Amino acid sequence: MITFYPGPSKIYPQVADYAADAVRQGIVSLNHRSAGFMDIVKETVRLLHEKLDIPADYHIALVSSATECWEIVAQSLTAVSSLHPYNGAFGKKWAEYAYKIKPPVSLSDADVLCIVQNETSNGTQVSMDTLAQFRRDFSALIAVDAVSSMAGVKFDWSLADVWFASVQKCFGLPAGLAVLVYSPSALKRAEEIGENVHYNSLLFIHENFSKFQTPYTPNGLGIYLLMRVLQQLPAIDLVDEITKRRATDWYTFVEKEMSATPFRLLINDPATRSDTVIAVQGDEQEVANVKKAAQQKGITLGNGYGAWKSTTFRIANFPAITDEEIGTLTQFLRSYQA
Ligand SMILES: *Cc1c(COP(=O)(O)O)cnc(C)c1O
Repeated sequence: MITFYPGPSKIYPQVADYAADAVRQGIVSLNHRSAGFMDIVKETVRLLHEKLDIPADYHIALVSSATECWEIVAQSLTAVSSLHPYNGAFGKKWAEYAYKIKPPVSLSDADVLCIVQNETSNGTQVSMDTLAQFRRDFSALIAVDAVSSMAGVKFDWSLADVWFASVQKCFGLPAGLAVLVYSPSALKRAEEIGENVHYNSLLFIHENFSKFQTPYTPNGLGIYLLMRVLQQLPAIDLVDEITKRRATDWYTFVEKEMSATPFRLLINDPATRSDTVIAVQGDEQEVANVKKAAQQKGITLGNGYGAWKSTTFRIANFPAITDEEIGTLTQFLRSYQA
């Protein structure tokens, strides 16, 4: 069975051995305040900086999910309210969660701009050029949900103050862990706001992570697996190159080689197409049929999501997927007769 589901997605096959190591070597039973465990956290944070090329002065914490990061941004980094320009289901959800904590106000009073860099629901992305434009136009904090692109493509980290991603997408790991990256300005803002009444208040998380600890008993297995996967990864420049080449190939393939099928790309403007999630549209019955036919060949396509639930299928273009698997799917789609 091979999967192109964009989250939870294919995990690196090596994770099976890493998980066995974690159990056999007693890593999952380590006290999270012990030196052995703190070394793992420290090394994971170091590797994230190194492999993803995160600026040395940006801080990193590990939390449970991207949804938790949405709440952390609202509770600990938003003084008044946040602004949410979005075009898809994850952007909408983020706005809904944030507004429960900090209700919306007029545009000019908002003090955090929240951007979903890669909208997994419809396969669109916000380019670094667009982010740079936001950076020029908006003087307050910028927070970026990069759940389905971090570790798949490279970023100009300086263009935002907060970046986060859960690991079940481009990191090729099981769910239950998220990477939260925040700039010195974000930390300064958290200090000015002084919010400290939650187990996951950013100031409390920061205080713990500066000692390579966590406020609560963390997902030790997840952190260990992240460390091991990071060790095996090439530098982000190379990953980025491969992801973008594969994305170009996917878009060309759907446009040129699937023209005889009832399917078309969901996103017409090449400039906003995602590098990591390819959304393909068709009518409801055709979409159901192709997913079923693929399943019978041992291939899982991603369902549509939100407004595009039944009229699209999605193809993850995540680093853990191999060229051979891509070949299997393109061969299936090429010969698919509706
Ligand atoms: C998957 C996803 C999320 C949700 O991640 P959780 O780990 O389930 O909280 C948020 N944003 C985007 C863009 C996603 O793709």
